[in-house]
Amino acid sequence: MTVRIDSATRNQLQEWEKELETQYQRICQHELNLDLTRGKPSAEQLHLSDRLDGILNGDYRSPDGIDTRNYGGLDGLPCSRALGADILQVPTEEVMAGGNSSLTLMYHAVLTGYLFGFAGTKPWREMAAPKFLCPVPGYDRHFTICEQLGIGMVNVPMTATGPDMDTVEKLVREDQEIIGMWCVPKFSNPTGVTYNQDTVTRLAQLGQVANPGFRIFWDNAYAIHDLDQHVNLPSIRSATIENDTTDSVIQFASTSKVTHAGAGIAFVSASSANLDSLKKQMQAMTIGPDKVNQLRHSRLFPEFTLLKEHMQQHAEILKPKFECVLKHLENAFGDSDLGSWEKPHGGYFISFDTRPGCATEVVRLAAEAGVKLTPAGATFPYGKDPENRNIRIAPSFPPLEELDTAMSVLVLCIKLASVREQLQ
Ligand code: PLP
Repeated sequence: MTVRIDSATRNQLQEWEKELETQYQRICQHELNLDLTRGKPSAEQLHLSDRLDGILNGDYRSPDGIDTRNYGGLDGLPCSRALGADILQVPTEEVMAGGNSSLTLMYHAVLTGYLFGFAGTKPWREMAAPKFLCPVPGYDRHFTICEQLGIGMVNVPMTATGPDMDTVEKLVREDQEIIGMWCVPKFSNPTGVTYNQDTVTRLAQLGQVANPGFRIFWDNAYAIHDLDQHVNLPSIRSATIENDTTDSVIQFASTSKVTHAGAGIAFVSASSANLDSLKKQMQAMTIGPDKVNQLRHSRLFPEFTLLKEHMQQHAEILKPKFECVLKHLENAFGDSDLGSWEKPHGGYFISFDTRPGCATEVVRLAAEAGVKLTPAGATFPYGKDPENRNIRIAPSFPPLEELDTAMSVLVLCIKLASVREQLQ
């Protein structure tokens, strides 16, 4: 049944509600226990990297002759930095290979700007109201970092080609206390959008007008997580070189969704001035990263082509799951006015925008029917979705049959919540 809300009469809406309510009650009796919240790899994906265990086989020397069992080397192993350079498509000298989490590196980078300032610029904590631009919907953990440090957040809408750049440029020009911006430039979390050339160029130009301490946090978490054809993300590094703003961007990536999640290697890439600032802060808290684990990864992927083949195996597992979600959305809403979504070609999420005011109710209805969804608002700073519309769908973890059932429930809940909202 296709529900077009805007052109429906009140009588039609009441009939639809009755029909949907009957279907919903029937589903509730099944006592499902399904989960669409977990943006993490499935066990099948994790198995792809199980060779990591034991791969060193007693040989702890890196290709450069470093005994990885011992202390030292804040920058990480040269072979690991080269792996990060391949992933981020930047020169190895501009990469540090760190511990198990890029989020940790991002936290340290924000802390560096906040406490000490990057590259000789004023520490953000000395400003009256330092704030970050936050493309929304976005990654909740980015927002948590700002919230914890008392850094303000300003929402910027995401479009199909990246953040709304007219808004970004206006805000940066008008407010010199905007000192940072979060970006997930490829297969964005959660919309799945990849920034286009115009967006990347305009972002690189911000450094010409922003506060000198302004930094873009380029979280390229899904740099190599293509599902089918390769999607090209224009190089932010080249764009900053062309615009003489190389200090304005700090890039991040990790192997968390490549090998074992939370047990891989994280990378940061930036100008030497930025890396020096970051290292000054980090060297007080660590002697260096886990080089043994770094070496394991280099043994698993001695060549970048092997890493790319490995990612194709991930894609083969993930693709049917993305197709399942998109098929449900298209069948249910392709010809309706109940919501909109992007069709990602990679990454870990699909995000659905309901009609205004419906997301919380959809999440509640789904929970009562046994399908757990990420709380409405979680993809916005302070957990507040001003229009109460966004729902993040994470298809990677559940088996395909469970995902299929969960999506049937979700679709029904969206219809029911939308019709009820209109009847109010
Ligand atoms: N950045 C984004 C956009 C993510 O979606 C995630 C995990 O979901 C992370 C970073 C976390 O990465 P890591 O495991 O390297 O800390």
